[in-house]
Amino acid sequence: MQEPSGTAKKQDPTKRTHRSSLFARQLRWGLLIALALGVLIMLSKGFSDYRDLWSFYDKTNERVLTSTVPVAGNAVQTGDVELAMAAIRGAMVSRTVVSVRLLTADRTVLAQQQYHPDLSPSGRWQDDLFGGIVEQDVVLYAHDRDRVEQVVVGELQMTFSPKVYVAILCDRIKQSFLAVFILALFMAFGMVGVSYFIVNKPLLQLIDYMVNVNPVETDKDLPMPPPYRHDDEIQMLRSSLIGLFALIRSKVEKLANVTDALQASNQTLEIRVEQRTRELNDVVEKLEFLAATDPLTGLANRRALMGRLKNAVAVWKRRGTRVGLIILDLDHFKALNDTYGHQTGDVVLKSLAGVFARVLRETDLPARMGGEEFAVLISDEDEDGLRIVAERLRKAVAEDVITVNDQTITCTVSIGIACLPVKNETEFLENDGVDSVLRQAREVESIIDVLYFVADRALYAAKAKGRNRFEMGELSEAVLMTGE
Ligand code: GH3
Ligand code: MG
Ligand code: MG
Repeated sequence: MQEPSGTAKKQDPTKRTHRSSLFARQLRWGLLIALALGVLIMLSKGFSDYRDLWSFYDKTNERVLTSTVPVAGNAVQTGDVELAMAAIRGAMVSRTVVSVRLLTADRTVLAQQQYHPDLSPSGRWQDDLFGGIVEQDVVLYAHDRDRVEQVVVGELQMTFSPKVYVAILCDRIKQSFLAVFILALFMAFGMVGVSYFIVNKPLLQLIDYMVNVNPVETDKDLPMPPPYRHDDEIQMLRSSLIGLFALIRSKVEKLANVTDALQASNQTLEIRVEQRTRELNDVVEKLEFLAATDPLTGLANRRALMGRLKNAVAVWKRRGTRVGLIILDLDHFKALNDTYGHQTGDVVLKSLAGVFARVLRETDLPARMGGEEFAVLISDEDEDGLRIVAERLRKAVAEDVITVNDQTITCTVSIGIACLPVKNETEFLENDGVDSVLRQAREVESIIDVLYFVADRALYAAKAKGRNRFEMGELSEAVLMTGE
């Protein structure tokens, strides 16, 4: 589909832009205006020349006529052909006369002369200018014998041609055209030359300044444009340019300062944030430590042990790794408190932490579960191994002599043990010999409850059997849990 020409024109505004320098345009227009003015001057001068020449031409013709008429009158009156020819030759001296004829009263030709037809004037200009070719007939009179009245003696016929004047006019027009043309050229070049020095050159200098000066380079001094002496529009442009560059520079400097300040404050902020984060991490670490630690003994607390136990049972569920739990309770601790005082009781509780540190391995986790009850999570030990550890603990506590206020104190613990069988879950569930309670306890929390219950029951069995001893709990005892 063809687009309407109107919209196509609107879409291409660059078509209206002409690429040319100011100088070229000034020259072009200067020449055009000077030529037009010259042509106007030439036309008016040509017209006045034409008027002057025409009046001069008319006067010449009149003079020829008035000087020829008396002689011609005599010639026709006397019938003197010689005289007639002389009058005719005299008239034809004037270059405007192309033919002369003298007729007698009976209209016979007495004498006549004319230029050769080729030489005779003809053509458009002669016809149009100065009234064209004109034929003048003058009746010739003479007095009668009595000199009373005048009688017609003949006729003088003269033809005038403006050919010579046309030629003169054409020559003058040609000369004035040449003069005007040369004058127009001089005027145009002169005007443009002057305007080049007044406008173009200072403008070009300013443009050069604008292109070469970068107001953003704040490390260099802002240079000034070339000097200018006049107080005119170009001076205004120059001052505006200087002001504009100075403004740009000050804004750029301000921006740089703000950026520096921003960077500095960013750095300070980063340092502060880093410091605060470190402090926060320390606090979190401390809090985590406090949340997982028993403040009196420095051992892990119930929460921490339960967390580790959960992990251990989850791994046991998947891989069948060994999980052992030992629960310890100080024997007759109430009596010890009552005898030596609560603070001494605390010292005894603390000393137990020392025993754990001496007897247990790093992978074991001892914890204070509350009051005078402790638990140890032991991984990778079978029932025999757990028995050995329990016996070592029992013995170490019993042999531990605590000195408080010059008093030596010893105490004992009763220990209950429980452990999860070393089998993977599938085998475990299929095995008839394994307790049905554990089989049902699929959740990690339920398995922990079972384990704790069994260990607790073993502990109480140890208490019941006389204290200062350990008992191995049986998972089958967990059946009793349901009854609780
Ligand atoms: P058993 O051999 O049957 O365990 O007797 P017991 O006296 O140890 O048991 P019981 O549960 O009757 O008493 C526990 C005592 O532990 C009671 C309480 O005063 C004491 N106790 C609990 N927590 C603390 C503690 O933090 N510091 C001190 N000094 N004593 C505590
Ligand atoms: Mg106790
Ligand atoms: Mg107790």
